[in-house]
Amino acid sequence: MPIRFYCASCARPIEVDDEHAGKVAACPYCRQVVPVPPQSTYVPTAQPVERSPEVFETAALAPRRRQAARTYGTYAIVLGIIAYGLMIATVLLTPPQVREKLASGPPATGPVSRQELARWQEQQVREVLEELRNNPLQPALGCGGLFFAICGLVLGIASLAQSRSGNWRGFVGLGLSVLYLLLQCAGSLFFVMLSRGAG
Ligand SMILES: [Zn+2]
Repeated sequence: MPIRFYCASCARPIEVDDEHAGKVAACPYCRQVVPVPPQSTYVPTAQPVERSPEVFETAALAPRRRQAARTYGTYAIVLGIIAYGLMIATVLLTPPQVREKLASGPPATGPVSRQELARWQEQQVREVLEELRNNPLQPALGCGGLFFAICGLVLGIASLAQSRSGNWRGFVGLGLSVLYLLLQCAGSLFFVMLSRGAG
């Protein structure tokens, strides 16, 4: 009894001998290698049905998956590197006034009261925000970095979903974007806390 099923790729009816249940077969129409179900998924009709010309063990799919994992992983790494490049550009393009403000400590003239310190912090945050508002390039670079990191994250996950064993590209790509996002979160959190402290 042949197994009759629809091609998972082009949805046309095909059949293979039942000894091939659970393997993969090449579709005679679209040439895609598709899984063979354990039993027929449609009732035969008068309509003639093409037989699959090639049937492989499921393992034949493994090289394809490894190839896909490599491709996704490589893209994930490239996107991660672009994200870090944009992060470095953001830092390098920070206007010197902002950098000085972020680096400078509170005014160290004599004992400083809590209120004075809070007022100073508030002033700092306001000035930094003002500077950033005058510099739309920087937030744009930051958003660009975030975008590439998220794309890298998705591709890293896609790569590992294809294959995990020995897939260093997938792990490196995923690691790069996760680290980027953590750094970005830590940076934002730091800034929010600074603003809170000032408020
Ligand atoms: Zn097909």
